[in-house]
Amino acid sequence: MASDAEIARAAVLKPIEEIGARAGLDAAALYRYGPHKAKVALDAVAALPARRGRLVLVTAISPTPAGEGKTTTTIGLGDALNLSGRRTVICLREPSLGPCFGLKGGANGGGRAQVLPQDEINLHLTGDFHALTAANNLLAAMIDNGIYWGNPLGIDPSRVTWRRAIDMNDRALREIVVGLGNNGAVRQDGFDLTVASETMAAFCLASSLADLETRLGRMVVGQTFAREDVQASAVKATGAMTALLRDAFAPNLVQTLDGSPALVHGGPFANIAHGCNSVAATDLGLRLADYVVTEAGFGADLGAEKFFDIKCRQAGLAPAAAVVVATSRALKMHGGVAKADLGRADPQAVRRGAANLRRHVENVQKFGVPVVVAINHFTADTEAELAEIFACCADIGVGVHLCRHWAEGAPGALDLAEAVAALVEGGTARFAPLYPDPLPLDAKIERIARDIYRADGVVIAPAAAKKLARYEAGGYGHLPVCMAKTPYSFTADPARVGAPEGFTLPVRDVRLSAGAGFVVALCGDVVTLPGLPRRPAAESIGVDAAGVIQGLF
Ligand code: ADP
Ligand code: MG
Repeated sequence: MASDAEIARAAVLKPIEEIGARAGLDAAALYRYGPHKAKVALDAVAALPARRGRLVLVTAISPTPAGEGKTTTTIGLGDALNLSGRRTVICLREPSLGPCFGLKGGANGGGRAQVLPQDEINLHLTGDFHALTAANNLLAAMIDNGIYWGNPLGIDPSRVTWRRAIDMNDRALREIVVGLGNNGAVRQDGFDLTVASETMAAFCLASSLADLETRLGRMVVGQTFAREDVQASAVKATGAMTALLRDAFAPNLVQTLDGSPALVHGGPFANIAHGCNSVAATDLGLRLADYVVTEAGFGADLGAEKFFDIKCRQAGLAPAAAVVVATSRALKMHGGVAKADLGRADPQAVRRGAANLRRHVENVQKFGVPVVVAINHFTADTEAELAEIFACCADIGVGVHLCRHWAEGAPGALDLAEAVAALVEGGTARFAPLYPDPLPLDAKIERIARDIYRADGVVIAPAAAKKLARYEAGGYGHLPVCMAKTPYSFTADPARVGAPEGFTLPVRDVRLSAGAGFVVALCGDVVTLPGLPRRPAAESIGVDAAGVIQGLF
């Protein structure tokens, strides 16, 4: 089969107005960025009828490092729903430049289930991440500037927690010193990847520009010499930050290979943040379409849990169905097969590994959302391996479909589309978050650890417990919790694959993201500014004589 890039390049894209019309948008509602990308004007969004569509989440089992095909399946399912005559919009995150030039490549799906134009989406799309970077760094500049001009807020320079941001994997900037050369307080600082910043998380959870400004104002940027929290509103940066973000806040419209409308907007990390596209885009999709298909990063223990408990809770969304993507290669890994041997047929390992799938399905059902399993078919899959996945699903009484959208496009996911539509139209969803707002923060962490990860309990480091008590006292106890944990295991240890039992979850540290509206619980190390590998993908990217970008996958 042709490579992702070859398929993308061979595609004949439709003018973005045609895609807008398919979604029910007038050309006047679109701000064009070239022929194939547009922002949907916020006043046009406001003039649309209220949300009416049904929301479908695509999530997955605990993945291998290669990814199990959530984005690919989100696109394939959206295309298949459209093919079956159901008006569908796809909602995805925007890719960061960091992984593009590193190892993982873009995030546009793959095979015959891709969003286009692939190179433009991967490289800048409409510049949202640059705007977010600028807004984030404006606040940083104003904090240091205030300290320089007599420090009227009494900020302790050694207790500034607001970090600078950059959309590039550049490990040299992780820890830096600022203020050298008599240019203000000399202090330790650092950069986070833009997608790991609270600016990004707040942007993605904001319901409107006014809400965005309120959220930005609530962000805690450091402490005074008297150990009082300093909010961004006190720095008086939030009006200008909102101005920088005004245009970025309008959702981006692009198309799939099949011409389905796709809203690609916002891209928060799935560890330190909640890992799904903007509320603004999801809200727009639900106003336009009968079905909105969206993805949440990582496996269901992290991605779906945070989608439900953070995004749906904050935005008043009620998903009607969920798809759990499984692959035989990941199930083999959960059955104990070493990464180097995943290409070899091993139905027994798939059977053992199916415990991981079973647990994720049960977990999603705990939120009152009906589930169907999508087997993302790989050409190396054997009949015996697939039979094991079918047997597991029969055993737990959940629908399962073999999906070939990667190889075949929309026709390869028609069965899945019919199954999803049946679940949605069956109306059995009774969505509720896992825990109520008033539950104390430590109890929220414990609820997630016990009910979703199946831990026997939680061990919160003493300093972290103290911080939680301080957050409760400061009026932040009602916030949901954002778990930062390895996606490779239900435990905090990436090596413990399958469906481990008899473990406790260690919580190393906690962080307040008051503007995003959650408290992060760090279970293990989280890198907020990744580095590039020894041979970065960037080494093989270039522009050919015809002006076509090569090497971007
Ligand atoms: P996720 O969103 O779960 O991280 P993606 O959909 O981005 O996963 O897929 C990860 C990678 O695997 C992509 O490069 C994609 O092209 C590839 N891929 C997905 N599904 C298949 C498949 N069925 N066969 C071969 N490659 C696939
Ligand atoms: Mg993805």
